[in-house]
Amino acid sequence: MSVASFEQSAKDFAATKLATRAIHAGQEPDPITGAVVTPIYMTSTFKQDGVGGLRNGYDYSRSINPTRDSFDAQLAAIEGAKYALAFSSGLAAIDVLLRSTLKPGDSVLLGNDVYGGTYRLLSKVFVPWGVNLDVVDITDTAAVSAALESKHYEWIWVETPSNPLLNITDIAATAAVAHAHGTKVAVDNTFASPVLQHPLDDGADVVVYSTTKYIGGHSDVVGGAVVLNDEEIRDKVAFLQNSAGAVPSPFDSWLDIRGLKTLDLRVKQHSRNALKVAEWFEGKPQIERVWYPGLESHPGHEIAARQMHGGFGGMVSVQFKGGLEAAKRFAAATKIFTLAESLGGVESLIELPAAMTHASVSGTTLEVPANLVRLSVGIEDADDLIADLDQALEQA
Ligand SMILES: *Cc1c(COP(=O)(O)O)cnc(C)c1O
Repeated sequence: MSVASFEQSAKDFAATKLATRAIHAGQEPDPITGAVVTPIYMTSTFKQDGVGGLRNGYDYSRSINPTRDSFDAQLAAIEGAKYALAFSSGLAAIDVLLRSTLKPGDSVLLGNDVYGGTYRLLSKVFVPWGVNLDVVDITDTAAVSAALESKHYEWIWVETPSNPLLNITDIAATAAVAHAHGTKVAVDNTFASPVLQHPLDDGADVVVYSTTKYIGGHSDVVGGAVVLNDEEIRDKVAFLQNSAGAVPSPFDSWLDIRGLKTLDLRVKQHSRNALKVAEWFEGKPQIERVWYPGLESHPGHEIAARQMHGGFGGMVSVQFKGGLEAAKRFAAATKIFTLAESLGGVESLIELPAAMTHASVSGTTLEVPANLVRLSVGIEDADDLIADLDQALEQA
């Protein structure tokens, strides 16, 4: 195997539909044995045929590994992008993208509803390093315009649907105004996944993923990725990736490959189930508000219907009239929905963002409502999920 053969395989499938690319791109049968599934190349180093005589470019697994190359080619092909670089976590991907393209004195404009860990990395690591961070209501294009006019930003950071409020940002409109001001656009596409949303086609410069979520899809691996067409940024990211070393193991890469093959099927089923769950919550007397971009009541519904393809994702958030206590009683009473952080796996999960995933934004402009419950709707039978939520609501 060689990077070139994985890339050739990705090119061969470039004209096929996403579900086909997901299964075949970068998945060349092993040339020695014919193994149909990419082997887990669990080796740190590679024999050289004389000094510098590398076989197909492989020298050391921090720099390059065939299992990781196979995943990179598969993910790039699904996204229809030139490059994908896999990392050991979503935050490692975000860190390397930003650290390789920013220097002290540069500025980042961040949406006001993002994954808590992204905000923690920026506010507690990048700000002390000398990077300026401003937060804006990113769903408000006029506010974004005003911010971009007030000073130069290197990056605008978009998360849509956002975590945990499922706010929707118009990627094309944001990219147009950002590019007019010389600002690059990064989209964290973790919630939509490459199945439902294609930010690069809408004008984004870079897409990032926590592959821990829908791409891995089985709650058994932590990983991340940077996906892009821009060669200059790709080279910077690749250099820091190798210099700093936050790469996924061959086994992690293999789990991501396996997850990606069924992504299309899974995400569509997550979306169907989540829509049923969101519709079921709406109008329940205990519920103050349901956040799901697939509902007409959602402020971003029209943009989401245009920007997302084939569903609105598997995440639903609800606010309880009975406040934090009712939210806690509800989350403690479900039986099929497991109380746990994370999302995007086949099994349904439930959590309280203010106390769990988003505790790090407490007291900031990104603080989330205390009465909010976030559900990662899995791919179990929808009727069973609703029956479980129904019995829990009786106890809330
Ligand atoms: C989980 C998550 C991350 C961080 O990814 P890790 O793999 O946990 O490091 C980033 N963005 C979003 C939207 C997430 O949900």
